[in-house]
Amino acid sequence: MNFVSTRGNAPAVSLSAALAAGLAPDRGLYVPTELPHFELADFDGASSLSQVAERLLAPFFADDALQSALHGIAARAFAINTPCLPMAGQGDWLLELFRGPTAAFKDYGARFLALCLAAMRRPDDPELTILVATSGDTGAAVAAAFHRLPGFRVAILYPDGRVSPRQAHQLGAFGDNVRAFKVDGSFDDCQALAKRALNDATLKQCVPLSSANSISLGRLLPQMAYYAQAALAHQRAHGRAPGFIVPTGNLGNALAGVLVRAMGLPVGEIVLATNANRTLADFFAGNDYVPRASVATLANAMDVGAPSNFERLQWLLPEAASLRRALRVEWVDDATIRDTIQCAQSRHDVVPCPHTATALCALERLRQAGDTRDFIAVATAHPAKFDSIVEPLIGSPVTPPPALAELLTRPSQALPLANDYDALCAALGYA
Ligand SMILES: *Cc1c(COP(=O)(O)O)cnc(C)c1O
Repeated sequence: MNFVSTRGNAPAVSLSAALAAGLAPDRGLYVPTELPHFELADFDGASSLSQVAERLLAPFFADDALQSALHGIAARAFAINTPCLPMAGQGDWLLELFRGPTAAFKDYGARFLALCLAAMRRPDDPELTILVATSGDTGAAVAAAFHRLPGFRVAILYPDGRVSPRQAHQLGAFGDNVRAFKVDGSFDDCQALAKRALNDATLKQCVPLSSANSISLGRLLPQMAYYAQAALAHQRAHGRAPGFIVPTGNLGNALAGVLVRAMGLPVGEIVLATNANRTLADFFAGNDYVPRASVATLANAMDVGAPSNFERLQWLLPEAASLRRALRVEWVDDATIRDTIQCAQSRHDVVPCPHTATALCALERLRQAGDTRDFIAVATAHPAKFDSIVEPLIGSPVTPPPALAELLTRPSQALPLANDYDALCAALGYA
């Protein structure tokens, strides 16, 4: 299969080429030239996440140099326990995507992308530096995915003092081929620095660079797997297609669910849960799409005012009216996030992170409005990653999962970096 740009001004390329490039040359996002269509029977005998992923992704890998590597990549990337558990309410489930090495759903995409890039590498290729700006979870997932992978280095830029203390510890705890830089600036500053470097042909001649941000096809494709697996398991067990409620920022995670539904898998309504960044909520309420600066909230990984994957949604559903009919948005303010975390144990029998809390709140609103359909709320991070918010609200400690606990016992070191392009070039090893 080939891939084209959402902006229509770039040549069609193979999967490998799209993965290597990240962004298309016309600055659009890569999308497949066609979407495969599946029947339920296509997944007969496939029940584990990696089995479902392999069948689902096979058409996208067809005729590519990576085709024969898909089996092994899927087996390794999806070796993450991904339970979908019933919650206290009738028809309510929780899909836990936080059991990977860094306790957030970004592990799925980062691991898959890393394994694809590693499989594409030739022995005499120069070392590639993966440069990522992060507001918290992406950096750790990318670091874990590329840690000690021969031929790769990772440079993480994060805003000093603006990620949770545990997120900061995690980012600096890898060492080896991973360097964490705490930038004297905001997340937007970090992103601007990274973007400038990734577009700097002179720098890239000396220091080969690649990104791993959420617009990469190599992160989007694998995220489809857990929606497909959960939907198939639900359909097989209950005879009904479940809806999904997805905590949403840049729209990468939710878009994967939308694609899975468009490919014929049994998925009902998809609800985007957002925080007080209302770009999507305003659009789906009938207003124009107006990207804007982000505002800081308790659900910091969703602090996005210009969701980058919106372009892919528009590619899939170019008509605003049909796009608005295809999805629904519930936005949740910080006070309600707090209230939802506080009440989640008694209402749902779970402890959510602030992002997951937005999905639980959206679920509560659906139930209050009399909606009795089956819904799977998506848990995007483990609450222990946001202990400083969650613990005071629920009044008890949250135990970190084993992988996070192990990381938190390692020493952590981040290098200070001025918000300055020359300083970044020097830090990347370019004199
Ligand atoms: C990244 C992230 C989100 C938002 O996901 P998008 O794909 O950007 O919409 C939600 N929750 C957590 C915990 C995240 O790390």
